[in-house]
Amino acid sequence: MTTPAAPEICCDLHMHSTASDGTCSPSELVAEAMALGLQAVALTDHDTFGGVAAMEAEARANGLRFIPGIELSVELADGGGIHMLGYCFTRGRDILERELERIIAGREARNRQIVTRLCELGLELTYDEVLAQAGGKIIGRPHFAAVMVRRGYVAEPREAFDKYLAKGKAAYFDRERFTAEQGISLIRECGGVAVLAHPSLLTLPAGQTLDDVIRHLADCGLGGIECYYSLHTPEQTNTYLAFARRYGLVVTGGSDYHGGRKPDIRMGCGKGDLRVPLRCADELEARAAQAA
Ligand code: AMP
Ligand code: ZN
Ligand code: FE
Ligand code: FE
Repeated sequence: MTTPAAPEICCDLHMHSTASDGTCSPSELVAEAMALGLQAVALTDHDTFGGVAAMEAEARANGLRFIPGIELSVELADGGGIHMLGYCFTRGRDILERELERIIAGREARNRQIVTRLCELGLELTYDEVLAQAGGKIIGRPHFAAVMVRRGYVAEPREAFDKYLAKGKAAYFDRERFTAEQGISLIRECGGVAVLAHPSLLTLPAGQTLDDVIRHLADCGLGGIECYYSLHTPEQTNTYLAFARRYGLVVTGGSDYHGGRKPDIRMGCGKGDLRVPLRCADELEARAAQAA
């Protein structure tokens, strides 16, 4: 007689709240995770811990395991770009928070350039509208796109990026970012584990392979790699799992849930078949404890 397989115990270690560019508040994220029966969640807003305290309190009240996190956009030498996740800050987050103030100021200056350029292009909008659209402290291009849709300048956010906001388009302006090395060391100074986000979306530096990049990051103190991700094919996931084994990295995973901002991505299951085993959360916390 065969016993039916126990349902897999799952978590989601990558999601965004209204503190950055998600459309759900921290407490709505907890409610959604509880409804889905997830066993652990991490909040990974862009450049801010603004939603962490509220989500931590709400998770505790619901008996849901919670891991504080962040997602940084960092640059590699020679034109590469990646997203760096940070988790489990065992020494407090103030060092990183201080450095983020500078990055946020750079973001503000960039945002004002975008407003001016859009107005020059005949798309009248005010920064106050964009601020109201965002609600939180991190204002980014997705919020511009939403205002442009609301004003009827474009039919959907994608069109706003394709015509105006994407790199190389008329209203694109760069902003200051951490280097990958800075991102990793700031996360580690706070006792956190640095994790390479969605490796399938990274921009490789000229002349380098993914193996070159991951080896370099591992040498710099990278602790993990996001193998399970909404947009990864099974082949990609296997490739990244092999990198994790080769370089001794913790395996993590998450949906990158943004609520209504990315309506095709659902918490916990991504486009439908994502499953992030709970041991990802265990290993992440074990790695942080080991470093502490
Ligand atoms: P920001 O941090 O303000 O520069 O905005 C970055 C965010 O904009 C990313 O996290 C994406 O969600 C979104 N984004 C960037 N490039 C594109 C693009 N070409 N199409 C759609 N969304 C994009
Ligand atoms: Zn986002
Ligand atoms: Fe990302
Ligand atoms: Fe993300």
